[in-house]
Amino acid sequence: VTQVPDVPEDARARHAQLSQELDEHAYRYYVLDRPSVSDAEYDRLMRELQALEDAHPSLRTPDSPTQKVAGSYSTLFTPVEHLERMMSLDNVFGDEELSAWAQRVVREVGEGEARWLCELKIDGLAVDLVYEDGVLVRAATRGDGRTGEDITPNVRSLSEVPSRLTAPAGGSVPRLLEVRGEVFFPSDEFEGLNASLVAQGKPPFANPRNAAAGSLRQKDPRVTAQRPLRLTLHGLGARDGFEPTSQSESYAALQELGLPVSSRYRVVETLEEAKAYIRHWGEHRHDVEHEIDGVVVKVDQFGLQRRLGSTSRAPRWAIAFKYPPEEVTTRLLDIAVNV
Ligand code: NAD
Repeated sequence: VTQVPDVPEDARARHAQLSQELDEHAYRYYVLDRPSVSDAEYDRLMRELQALEDAHPSLRTPDSPTQKVAGSYSTLFTPVEHLERMMSLDNVFGDEELSAWAQRVVREVGEGEARWLCELKIDGLAVDLVYEDGVLVRAATRGDGRTGEDITPNVRSLSEVPSRLTAPAGGSVPRLLEVRGEVFFPSDEFEGLNASLVAQGKPPFANPRNAAAGSLRQKDPRVTAQRPLRLTLHGLGARDGFEPTSQSESYAALQELGLPVSSRYRVVETLEEAKAYIRHWGEHRHDVEHEIDGVVVKVDQFGLQRRLGSTSRAPRWAIAFKYPPEEVTTRLLDIAVNV
């Protein structure tokens, strides 16, 4: 550890303690599928760390949890390198913070240039799928963003994942297509799964997100095949022969290829409309087939996304608006969870 002379000892000690705690929580969450604190508590610790680094910028080293994609990979699976890095998302927790983010975007790209694509933030497990000449060749977890776990046989067992892409009318399949999305456990099947696990003397899952992660990251893909897992795509990685010019165009093109995308996204011109979308789904979050922990707002045009670029852990062209935590999740975390 390098000595940083301008930082008071208590701030440095708290920084070290928070960093270690956050790394441990990430390991339990991503590798063991067995978190010991609620997401809200994890977010609170992360914000405390960010505030400390704002006050003492020399503490913001590249290995700080604020600077990297949280997560790791387990020795249960073969590690695989993603063709393009998988990123996390920066968070905002209210309208004012959202406006501040949008203002930074507008300052960079110009007033009235950006269109805002709003979509649900699915509380599931991030996966990366690679299609070569239209054939699914690999599927992996996010891992640390560069290296994930090879879970190809498990992902193949999802009914919504085509092993071959459909050529669009009058066109052909891309030579290469890396897509990203969220695997989730449908909310209305969750109680039934836990009841059957308990009946078999096995511990239940704490929440649908853990049920998705635990079901997908199974050594035996036949167990995965028995679980009603679903997938919704929300991003692209490497591609060759696939040339949409915006996020919304890419969703339409992915759908034509036979890949699962959400029909709930909206592209709007003003931030007020984005805020209305966020309010709407905040009031209807239980009307959706999966858990949502917020809304993601993205700059729709790829040209502007490229101009905005990314930090070491998240794109600058997207933001997650997180909804307030729901009590039930924290209470359920007391239950031992299944791996
Ligand atoms: P994140 O979950 O806040 O956001 C990034 C992820 O959102 C992306 O990787 C992507 O997979 C997913 N996502 C869902 N819908 C999306 C959409 N429509 N568009 C784009 N991306 C979408 O960030 P993170 O780095 O994965 O994890 C941090 C969060 O995970 C924390 O805020 C906390 O909620 C939870 N967490 C909890 C613990 C714990 O111990 N309880 C530990 C680590 C992380």
